Amino acid sequence: MTIAVFCGSSSGNDSDFLDSTKELGKYFALNGIDVVYGGGKVGLMGALADSVMENGGKVHGVIPIKLKEKELAHTNITQLDVVENMHERKALMASKADAFVALAGGAGTLEEIFEVWTWGQLGFHSKPCAFYNINGFYDKLFEMLEGMCDSGFLKKDLLDMLIKTDNKDQLLKAIKEYIPPKNKW
Ligand code: AMP
Repeated sequence: MTIAVFCGSSSGNDSDFLDSTKELGKYFALNGIDVVYGGGKVGLMGALADSVMENGGKVHGVIPIKLKEKELAHTNITQLDVVENMHERKALMASKADAFVALAGGAGTLEEIFEVWTWGQLGFHSKPCAFYNINGFYDKLFEMLEGMCDSGFLKKDLLDMLIKTDNKDQLLKAIKEYIPPKNKW
């Protein structure tokens, strides 16, 4: 199984973010899960890739040329694909992945997981989307999303299709047992 991981190009200011990311990378490697990610060497992205590699796993990075030219690419991973732009990157990552997981991060991370979640809602794919919710990092976002349901902009079953957990075993179990909901339309 290959999991696409979206996470911060920064490490955050609490070491728990870094530690949990490294633990998850190790867990994926030890459970035979390959990782596809944005190909960066910085922040949680770099830490995740390092951890998977150090523990004998496989990491496929997909980086747009503009970021590679800024020397932000990870050079010690199993495979690095350099693509023209963000659209190509996301399409390639999505095609390689069996599931999508967001760790802590900023706007880039949110944009990536929301995009694949939206595609899932519309039935463009049937792959699970998950938030690995380190220290309740995403709790306020989930409150906002509940508010969208209350306001009639988001269907509850489409919110419930998101896997939300801070437990590695639960994360993998939920991914493996995922049943997609009925599409939005
Ligand atoms: P953010 O959550 O705002 O830190 O953005 C993280 C996302 O932005 C990543 O998943 C990548 O898509 C992209 N990104 C930012 N910096 C880099 C980098 N140095 N190398 C590769 N991708 C990056």
